[in-house]
Amino acid sequence: MEQNEKWVFSISIILLIVDLITIAILNLTPKITLKEGDIAIELGEEYKEPGYSVFQGYFDITNQVFVTNNINNQEVGSYEVIYQVKYLGKEYKKVRSVKVEDRTKPALTLKGNNPVILCPNKEYIEEGYESIDNYDGDLTEKVKIEKKENLLIYSVEDSSNNKVEVIREIIYNDSEAPTITLNDGNATSLYVGQSYSEPGYIALDTCDGDITSNVKVSGDINTNEAGSYTLTYQITDSSGNSAFATRTVLVTPRPTNNKVIYLTFDDGPSYNITPALLEILKEENVKATFFVLDHGDSLDYLIKRAYDEGHTIALHGATHSYKQIYSSTDAFFNDLEIIQNRVFNVTGKRATIIRFPGGSSNTVSRFNPGIMTTLAKEVKNRGFHYFDWNVDSEDAGSARNSNDVYRNVVNNLKYQHNVVLMHDYSNNYKTLNAIRDIIRYGKENGYTFEAITMSTPEVHHGIAN
Ligand code: ZN
Repeated sequence: MEQNEKWVFSISIILLIVDLITIAILNLTPKITLKEGDIAIELGEEYKEPGYSVFQGYFDITNQVFVTNNINNQEVGSYEVIYQVKYLGKEYKKVRSVKVEDRTKPALTLKGNNPVILCPNKEYIEEGYESIDNYDGDLTEKVKIEKKENLLIYSVEDSSNNKVEVIREIIYNDSEAPTITLNDGNATSLYVGQSYSEPGYIALDTCDGDITSNVKVSGDINTNEAGSYTLTYQITDSSGNSAFATRTVLVTPRPTNNKVIYLTFDDGPSYNITPALLEILKEENVKATFFVLDHGDSLDYLIKRAYDEGHTIALHGATHSYKQIYSSTDAFFNDLEIIQNRVFNVTGKRATIIRFPGGSSNTVSRFNPGIMTTLAKEVKNRGFHYFDWNVDSEDAGSARNSNDVYRNVVNNLKYQHNVVLMHDYSNNYKTLNAIRDIIRYGKENGYTFEAITMSTPEVHHGIAN
């Protein structure tokens, strides 16, 4: 070989070696391999390295890799894991994408009943709900409610589109019967001739409320005949549930004790008390006695009416002036004559029953000693019967109201013949307002009511002058 050829050959060899070294160097570029590639983990889940390897040619240099990541597993998002390795002053890297995902549905809880049992035709009133999301927090305000027939569908979606749906079922049903309650219980009694007055009742239904006005009452009571009668109260609610109640009404014969009450009214008539009083007496079918004064022509119609309605018109006097009437026997009878004539003119009958103003026991006449002793005899001589009283309603005295009048009368009915002193003078409403209760009390306790007549046993006070 020539010297030159040797040179060429040597250089070629050198070049070849350089090439080989270069190729070797190139082949030794680190190769990073990631297992599983890009991944996703759940919110809160710990990131676990799926694994990687780095080879430099045939050499495993995995342990030289520097791995970093910015993963925040408490926050939804895309993160990176960076795998870095240095070689010959150059940096090689590979990136793994890691997504943190919220895959948990929000919680959605209903308050109140489920299913709900609701009256037909009633609107459901929302009982409330609550939605809490693991990531978004309180989503209650985002809950949507959809109504499908008898279902309420509550739904909510979190920011990661996890959706939850809860159903509340509404059962429209009224199988509950109404209730009907009778005032005064299920049995009542009254006397023959007394009128039945319904004590009332209440019908209530859980769905319809107060349906008292729909109650149908059936049954007949003959208050003129003793017996047991039944009233039936029937109620049906709007769903067709029914209830009924019955009341037994016992009509019993009126008890009698042969005792008599004589209601007597002095000093009338008066235009504002007497007509109303007559009305009550008529309704209660009670006869009474009116000891009238002379109130002039304008009230004659009341004397006439009382007379026509069967009451006894008796005489009290014309003036009720003690000074005048008890000044002498003549003065008394002159006064009596005036009212006697008025009554006669109105009724066509001479009255024979009288009551002394102040009563026969009065002491107001003592300015004329002995006058009452004289008059008591003299009225008899002239054919009169005089009546005092043995039950005083105190309606011209201490009674302050109708309760007092009522009590003063009913608490003092101690006699076979009870002559009750009352007044129908103007504005005596306390007596007017007590009279019906007094009559009812008397009837229920076996008394009969009568007007005073000439055959009524006279009730006299002791003469005190
Ligand atoms: Zn009087």
